[in-house]
Amino acid sequence: MILKGKVVLITGASRGIGRSIAETCGKNGADVIVNYNNNEEEAMKVVKKIREYGVKAIAIKSDVKNIKEVSSMFKKINLEFKKLDILINNAGILKDNLLLLCKPEDYDEIMDVNLKGQFLCMQHAAKMMIKQKNGKIINISSIIGLQGNIGQTVYGATKAGIINMTKSAAKELGGFGITVNSVAPGLIDTDMTSGLKENIKEKLINSTILKRIGKPKDISYAVLFLASEFSNYITGQTISVDGGMNM
Ligand code: NAP
Repeated sequence: MILKGKVVLITGASRGIGRSIAETCGKNGADVIVNYNNNEEEAMKVVKKIREYGVKAIAIKSDVKNIKEVSSMFKKINLEFKKLDILINNAGILKDNLLLLCKPEDYDEIMDVNLKGQFLCMQHAAKMMIKQKNGKIINISSIIGLQGNIGQTVYGATKAGIINMTKSAAKELGGFGITVNSVAPGLIDTDMTSGLKENIKEKLINSTILKRIGKPKDISYAVLFLASEFSNYITGQTISVDGGMNM
């Protein structure tokens, strides 16, 4: 129960990695806010599962790129829980395209969800955490933010931006007892990667040292460590969780 008594917000927690993180936090004693955008039914399933662990859980619909919706989500959290100990900035989208084919509207959407969304949530969370004089922020980046990739010019830029935003925020917020870290997943088996062609998946798996695709649980255990007291002296860091792909 290493998160007992903590209040955690996970963005994009209706599916995939976010869902696994939310369930792991609940299982480890935290009260959990499950943020989602479109999938209310799935978000409510996550809430139900978390409540079975005997902790509080609620779902809040909020499009993380929309400042009004983000503000309203944080108001609700303030009203219902009076504090926020941990923010896990996980919501993200993927719209791969080659540089020459990428549409300006796709550029805007990927930037808005992946980078502005994390920025807005960090800003709102930091306001609460500064008053509390403690808090932990964990931003989900990607191996692509470290290495770049064909067809991922924009996605990779958002994920590299997250790594740098993590460092600057860590420097600004450390004096208030707040740590800010990032996790860079490799290839993880979720809806986001389900459309990848089998030969590409195989190539990627072969480029890992552990010779397997990652599971959402692989990411949630690293996040759990960063969300817990076991990481109190770690800030501004990005941990690769990728089976050894980034070496
Ligand atoms: P996923 O299965 O596609 O799930 C995405 C989640 O984000 C869903 O819960 C979705 O909510 C939510 N979301 C999308 N747009 C949103 C918005 N505007 N506002 C609020 N929530 C929104 O993706 P995933 O694979 O779990 O990825 C989670 C994170 O890990 C992303 O940041 C991704 O870039 C990163 N990542 C993934 C991999 C991988 O291999 N899977 C690798 C590296 C990094 P709704 O369903 O309610 O719309």
